[in-house]
Amino acid sequence: MNKKMKNITVIGAGTMGNGIAHTFAQKGFNVSLVDISQEALDRGLGTISKNLDRMIAREKITEADKEDTLNNITTYTDLKEGVQQADLVVEAATENVDLKLKIFGQMDEFAPADCILASNTSSISITQIGAATSRPEKVIGMHFMNPVPIMKLVEIIRGYSTSDEVTKSIMDMSIQLGKTLLRLMTILDL
Ligand code: NAD
Repeated sequence: MNKKMKNITVIGAGTMGNGIAHTFAQKGFNVSLVDISQEALDRGLGTISKNLDRMIAREKITEADKEDTLNNITTYTDLKEGVQQADLVVEAATENVDLKLKIFGQMDEFAPADCILASNTSSISITQIGAATSRPEKVIGMHFMNPVPIMKLVEIIRGYSTSDEVTKSIMDMSIQLGKTLLRLMTILDL
């Protein structure tokens, strides 16, 4: 277990968010999953449950592993409650720049000061997202591939202000998640 990071919050329970929550929970992290409605959260949990069943059928995990994984996930419709204990937040909400800037402003306000704020965005500038916060050195891109529990690659994207220390923490965390094929990208997207 990563000593510094135990509580992981995932924003968005859609295609990517539920896969990211599943992956962290299966590795034993405490996962808080946040979406705008209970219906979206229930759909996400349903997908995680079905994907775990598929792993059981393939004898990759046991029923007890499934239970442990689901027990590691708590759901929230309130972002403030969902992020206030977080060591790391991975944002996987709808790909819309205004929405992401708003979410990062809220996460900056409510997450602990030392919490790392990561985005799974496919196309939005990490520098721009970081500038919506008072901690751009702790903002980073963590781009998982679909389906997250299966795909090995995670792209780590630094913004202009992302610190070396935060980059290393996220690289270590990705390896800990079993994401062996790791690509480090630096995008100077000023
Ligand atoms: P999705 O539409 O399946 O899920 C998005 C979720 O975000 C929905 O459940 C929605 O209700 C939720 N959401 C919207 N506003 C929110 C808010 N304010 N707070 C909390 N939750 C909110 O989208 P997706 O395909 O999972 O994509 C999510 C992110 O991952 C995007 O940034 C996308 O670019 C990126 N991404 C997608 C893929 C892919 O193959 N789908 C691959 C890599 C990265």
